[in-house]
Amino acid sequence: RAKAAGTGGFVCYDPAMTAEVEARRRLEAELRRSLADGDFRVHYQPIVEVATGRVCSVEALVRWQHPERGLLTPQEFVPLAEQTGLITSLGEWVLRTACAEAARWPGRMKVAVNVSAVQFRRPGLLESIEQALREAGLPPDRLEVEITETVLLENEERNVSVLHRLKSLGVAVALDDFGTGYASLAYLTMFPFGKLKIDRRFTRDVLTRPDCAAIVCSATALGLSLGMTVVAEGVETPGQLEIVRITGVTQAQGWLFGAPMPADAIAGRIAAEVTDRPRRLLADAS
Ligand code: C2E
Ligand code: MG
Ligand code: MG
Ligand code: MG
Repeated sequence: RAKAAGTGGFVCYDPAMTAEVEARRRLEAELRRSLADGDFRVHYQPIVEVATGRVCSVEALVRWQHPERGLLTPQEFVPLAEQTGLITSLGEWVLRTACAEAARWPGRMKVAVNVSAVQFRRPGLLESIEQALREAGLPPDRLEVEITETVLLENEERNVSVLHRLKSLGVAVALDDFGTGYASLAYLTMFPFGKLKIDRRFTRDVLTRPDCAAIVCSATALGLSLGMTVVAEGVETPGQLEIVRITGVTQAQGWLFGAPMPADAIAGRIAAEVTDRPRRLLADAS
C-alpha cells in the first residue's frame, strides 16, 4: 500500500491505492487553485494572562474555505501542503494577513503565527517576515513565531542563526506543542525561545491523570526557571485553569477563553477589552 511504498521502496498497484493517490492529486490541485483564488481564511484565538484574565496575544490559525466541502481545519490539509511544498506560499500568505490584521488592533496586542518546518528550512524566511512586518507597518515586537520541535532536528547551526536573527529583529519565538516532539532539553539552552507552549494533551488530562499533572508542573518549572513565558494550550474548564494557575503557568489558551474566530470577531473582542480598561482602573481605584 502507499505507506509501504515509502519505507520498502516498492509500489503495489491495487485499486484502493489508486483511489487514494487520485484523491491526493485532486486535493493538491484544489489547494493550488484555492491559493490563487483566495479561499483561505485566518481565524484568531485569544491567549490570556493567567494573573489578570486579560487577552495579551492572539494566535493566527489557518482555515480553508473549500468551495464544496466547507470550512476545513489544518489537520485536513496542512500535511499535504507540507508534502507538496505549498505550505511555504500558504504560510507567507498567513503571515502577511495576520500582520496586516494585527496592525489594526488597538492597544499593543501581539499576534502569533505558526511556521511549518518546511517553510522554516527554506531560504528567505527572514526576508518574508521582515517584508510582512514592513508592509503591514507592524512593529516587530508585536509578532511571535511559533515553531515545533521538528523544526530543530536538522541543520542546527543554521537554525541557531535564524532564531538569533529573529530575536535581534525583535520577533519573539515560541516553542509549540512542547513535550510531544523529539527535542532534547539541550535545545532549550541552544535556541533563544521566549515562550514555551505546553501541549494540549497534557492540559486536557491535568485533573484526572497524575502523570499529566506532573508533566505540566515540571515543564512549567523548567520554562520559568529558564526565564521563559509558559503557556498552557487547550484550557477548556475552570478546573483546568485552577490547576495551571497554581502551577505558575503565565498564559493560557483554550475554549474557556474563546475558540478561534474570524478577524472581525477577534477585533471586537480586543476593542471591548481595551475600552474596558479605563473603566476597570476607575473601579479599582474607588
Ligand atoms: P497549534 O499551533 O498547537 O494550535 C492550537 C490548536 O489547538 C488549534 O487547532 C486550536 O483550535 C486548538 N485548540 C485551542 N484551544 C483548544 C481547546 O480548548 N480544546 C481543543 N480541543 N482544541 C483547542 P487548529 O486550528 O485545528 O490547528 C491545528 C494545528 O495546525 C496547529 O496547532 C498548528 O500546528 C497547525 N496550524 C494552524 N495554522 C497554521 C498555519 O498558518 N501554518 C502552519 N504551518 N500550521 C498551522
Ligand atoms: Mg501554534
Ligand atoms: Mg500547539
Ligand atoms: Mg498542536
